[in-house]
Amino acid sequence: MRFAALAALGLVALQGAAAASPEGERLLSDVARAMGGAEAILGVRTLQADGYGMEAYFWGGGNITGDREAPQKWAENPNFSSVWDFENDRYRTQYRHNFLFPFGGTFGHSFSLSAWGVDGDVGYTLAGNAGTRLAEWTTGGAWFKPDGSVFRKYESLTHPLVAVRAVLSHKAAPENLRIENGMPVVDLVIDEGYVTLGVDAGTLLPRWVRWTAPHQNLGEVVITTTFVGYQDFDGVQLPFTWVARIDWRNTLIQTRMLDGYYVNSGKTPDIAAPAAVLAQPQPAAAPPAAAITVTKIADGLWHFNPGGHTVIEFEDHLVIFEMGGTAAQARAAIALANTLVRGKPLTHLIVSHHHFDHTLGFRAAVEAGLTVISHWGNEEILTDMATRPAPNFAGLVPNPNGAPLKFVPVHGHLRLEDARMTLDIYEIVKHNHMANAVFAYAPKSRTLMEGDLATPANQFSFWAEAYEDNLEHYGLEVDTVSPNHVARPMTHEETLKWIAEGVPRALARCDELLALGRPIPGCPPNIHRNWNERLAQ
Ligand SMILES: [Zn+2]
Ligand SMILES: [Zn+2]
Repeated sequence: MRFAALAALGLVALQGAAAASPEGERLLSDVARAMGGAEAILGVRTLQADGYGMEAYFWGGGNITGDREAPQKWAENPNFSSVWDFENDRYRTQYRHNFLFPFGGTFGHSFSLSAWGVDGDVGYTLAGNAGTRLAEWTTGGAWFKPDGSVFRKYESLTHPLVAVRAVLSHKAAPENLRIENGMPVVDLVIDEGYVTLGVDAGTLLPRWVRWTAPHQNLGEVVITTTFVGYQDFDGVQLPFTWVARIDWRNTLIQTRMLDGYYVNSGKTPDIAAPAAVLAQPQPAAAPPAAAITVTKIADGLWHFNPGGHTVIEFEDHLVIFEMGGTAAQARAAIALANTLVRGKPLTHLIVSHHHFDHTLGFRAAVEAGLTVISHWGNEEILTDMATRPAPNFAGLVPNPNGAPLKFVPVHGHLRLEDARMTLDIYEIVKHNHMANAVFAYAPKSRTLMEGDLATPANQFSFWAEAYEDNLEHYGLEVDTVSPNHVARPMTHEETLKWIAEGVPRALARCDELLALGRPIPGCPPNIHRNWNERLAQ
């Protein structure tokens, strides 16, 4: 059957060779026939796909460790709905968002509705009634995912009916027909670029759609969405589920399961972009770096805001702790550090943990030639982030060719010491947010530098005990904390107070959800010290 279908297409002889458009057109007309016919497909004027799904937190970059076997942390996405309005060249997708793991910020658990669309050439995102126009491409989308008008255009083509309809209505040209692993594959070329369509050789139904996007941590990623469970829907074969994977570790990043389709329904909402969005100029891919405020913490120690970096001065060089931030912001922080002390270049970066928000600027650090110090267990994932190239997005992503990682592992404890500075780097203990993590401590000034140990977020203090657990484990006295997620250094007492504020909120949220009959992950929180006393002070 498989061979017969390929032979009927005249494709067997094409192994590995590129083909001109007529063959591509012929494949697509056979695919259209398998789906129910060109007439039925072109008769679809609006399509609405409603359902639910899951999304991988940071697309796999937010798990307990960077180990490829670390279980995936998921967000649930109820209220998923995608709408296509073909006559007006419009598309919109929406879903709600709730983390299925404890998280310190309310936004992780708020079930907020997010929507993205494209109206003609204008890409946009909606939050409530406020719309914001998207750049052509950006790595600074929601949760630091790629986004942009082209991203949303490619996403709109990532559905079998939409992809085939685009060819039938001459909005996309099928080119470069070839066979990959026994499967006919063709590029669907639009003005902005192309998506690639893989066709099941047996059924001649679309099997997957694939395209490339920039990624701040991973350089660029190839996203492949595979369609499963075709059913006849008023004469057209439509898939009821699909899954998306990226080419980094073949990570499953998104699932979508439908409750149903609405075809040409009078109830499908109008998805025109708001007039206020259409009036906005197209923004740049990334905002320029914000001015950085430098706060001296102690002799030889500075805190940078924004960015939450700590710079540490040694005899003949400087070390920086943590490198989040956009490409522009990270480059600005590195440039500023290099001017901080005359004659002392920035040579090393300490990475607290691998989470993609804490390593957003990592590729800029690799580009700057910095040697990286982190928990020994992070070497593999940091190597991926250093070495993956981004040939299609060289202007958007630092270190576009990839570069070898210069890595110093921390096993338990590492002391950096010369006549000017002593800095102890410790493996973090007892922390369910990040198992392979480190913090740094300058014993002379009793300054602790951290990312997500003391100050992850305090709307819900699910990790209230972690800070003191680590101080007790290593027998450390702290005067000052130099935080990554708080804009200024804090005293030890201020830090405890900051953590304490989120304790009753975490406990109350757990009680509230339990009362609703819906106990949630992370509850009851792992809290055992007497925080009421601290709050009372
Ligand atoms: Zn984290
Ligand atoms: Zn964090």
